[in-house]
Amino acid sequence: MNRNSSVIKKMAETCLAGITEKEETITLNQVPLVKTDDCAVISILSSGVCGTDPHIFSGKRVGATYPTIQGHEICGRIEHLGKSFSCKPGDHIAIGDRVILVPGKACGTCHYCITYPHQEHLCVNRGIYGVTLRCDRPPYLIGGFAQKVVITSGYWLFLLPKDIPDEIGCLTEPLAVAIHAVERGVGMNMPTAQYGPGLYPTIIIQGAGPIGLLTAITCRSIGAHVIITDILEHRVSFAKELKLHAVLLPRKEGRVLALRKETKGIGADIAIDCAGTPEAFEEGIQMVRRGGRYIELGNFADSGEALVKPSYICRNDLEIFGSVIASPWDFGRAIQLLQKDAALFQKLITHRFRIEETEKAIINVKEKHGIKTIIVP
Ligand SMILES: [Zn+2]
Ligand SMILES: [Zn+2]
Repeated sequence: MNRNSSVIKKMAETCLAGITEKEETITLNQVPLVKTDDCAVISILSSGVCGTDPHIFSGKRVGATYPTIQGHEICGRIEHLGKSFSCKPGDHIAIGDRVILVPGKACGTCHYCITYPHQEHLCVNRGIYGVTLRCDRPPYLIGGFAQKVVITSGYWLFLLPKDIPDEIGCLTEPLAVAIHAVERGVGMNMPTAQYGPGLYPTIIIQGAGPIGLLTAITCRSIGAHVIITDILEHRVSFAKELKLHAVLLPRKEGRVLALRKETKGIGADIAIDCAGTPEAFEEGIQMVRRGGRYIELGNFADSGEALVKPSYICRNDLEIFGSVIASPWDFGRAIQLLQKDAALFQKLITHRFRIEETEKAIINVKEKHGIKTIIVP
């Protein structure tokens, strides 16, 4: 990384950050730290690298702006609380507390905020730490791949209970994303719930990367029969180590047939895409039973078009739902789940990098090494 960033000039108080200056360019530099009455400052304890980070790094994520500091899976310790700073859900937060940031804040004024205020994640103007905010304007420190983050009023901050280690705190955000997708699958809080899969559904999860495994653990926690799949051998063996029923799929043909066999030829009640390829979508809808439900979670970045026969969806009475990010209250539930078995979640963290190695960490995720990559300052 290049230490001579042209973007940010040195100021009185600064701290170190990995700055994504433009596509494929990360520099390591000092960023102004401005403590105002209307902000909180956290020092980072752990920051997860998401599967979306390589897309932001390469300029393929719609809505990403530069220069930015990436990192939206953020766990930190409060070191400054401005007099007029306020956050949701209203927990009493004090200096020294460990907190989890919900990286996006709803604007409160768009069509979705006004009409569907209980679905904050649908807001079209969300300011998202580590994704849509720029670091060349206040509050500058707007991403987790830094020593500190400055949080402005109105965001959600959840307290991290004492028995959850710093390192796995940053799994809260991706676990909330998994919980949101599973809720879409099992139909809670939805008017169609009476036609849903009911208790103890069979759920197929395509992809045994970090999101796939977190989704599988979530499904197991609600009593589902879970089948997790991947084409990468090391990911399938890792899933088996977590005592999940994992199936190694062929790299080309025969994947649908293999999964049909696993479900006595019927198909699953629900399948969830955590692989994020167009092929996963094409095959996944054929892995659910008639009247079953398919959840598209993995194709967040645009990875191309899928070939689908509309008549297949019609004749099989299929339900196909998207699932994007998470609601703030999914974070609260994610913390509860982390607390139940911290040792299990700890196993998912296979790679740790320093801020100085931000680019390396992002490439590690792009190349699918290990399971979860995190940055610890
Ligand atoms: Zn993410
Ligand atoms: Zn809005």
